[in-house]
Amino acid sequence: MSDSKILAGKKALVFGVANERSLAWAIAKKLHAQGAEVGFTYLGEALERRVRPLAESVGSTFVEPCDVTSPEQVKTLFSKLRDHWGQLDTLVHSIAFANKEDLEGHFVATSKEGFLKAIEISAYSLVELTREALPLLERQGGRVVTLSYYGAEKVIPNYNVMGVAKATLEACVRYLAWDLGEKKITVNAISAGPVKTLAASGVRDFRTMLKQAAEKTPLKENITADSVGELGAYLCGPGGQHITGSTMYVDSGAHIMG
Ligand code: NAP
Repeated sequence: MSDSKILAGKKALVFGVANERSLAWAIAKKLHAQGAEVGFTYLGEALERRVRPLAESVGSTFVEPCDVTSPEQVKTLFSKLRDHWGQLDTLVHSIAFANKEDLEGHFVATSKEGFLKAIEISAYSLVELTREALPLLERQGGRVVTLSYYGAEKVIPNYNVMGVAKATLEACVRYLAWDLGEKKITVNAISAGPVKTLAASGVRDFRTMLKQAAEKTPLKENITADSVGELGAYLCGPGGQHITGSTMYVDSGAHIMG
């Protein structure tokens, strides 16, 4: 029955769908399955062609461009959202970027430009998007979910500057959670094990990461995008009401291993 869906009547805006393999898409599908109306953003025309059909398949009526490095595009997006929905319950941030040359070799060689770009797109954008969403989110409490990886905490060869960006992102989650707690807005990160996506293919030797993850985790298998989607939807539902500032692992237990 539709009224038993935990997110019936909720509106969610999802950033970071590039294609059907994207973790953002896995979360969007679960949000939709639980009754939420889902809106999408895309980066550039090439991705629009991929994102629109996916959005239509879940009955989405809000599909807009947004490059998070453009403050104008971010402002325009939220102004359109205000006119379109007038409310927002959930913001899913599933965006990361680093120059390809910074995802291999020596971390010490990272350029200032590459370093700042990775932090801007992968971490600062969470702060900016949350701030712009606030007038809509704070009407009835809200949920913000982002995606991280264990390379934030421990050295993962080749993850390099992205590890630094994810450490920054996880710290942003804690400070946002503290800041927005009084408005009953929760902010959490899901630290996912490796999944073969477009972004992941930019990390050198990603196949080795996948193989090792399967061998070395307690569960002896890689995670699926679907299990990330399940936790995303849970955090946005009633079960997530008192969870904030956390980094939660969907990694087959990889993070407990020494
Ligand atoms: P994905 O499908 O490639 O998604 C990454 C998204 O970020 C893409 O839609 C990408 O667009 C977008 N993006 C990059 N720069 C942007 C910008 N300036 N403005 C707006 N969007 C931008 O890969 P994914 O693996 O699902 O990644 C989603 C999140 O999960 C990332 O934060 C990633 O670090 C995290 N994560 C992934 C894994 C994994 O193994 N896959 C594990 C843990 C955490 P373009 O494709 O056009 O660049």
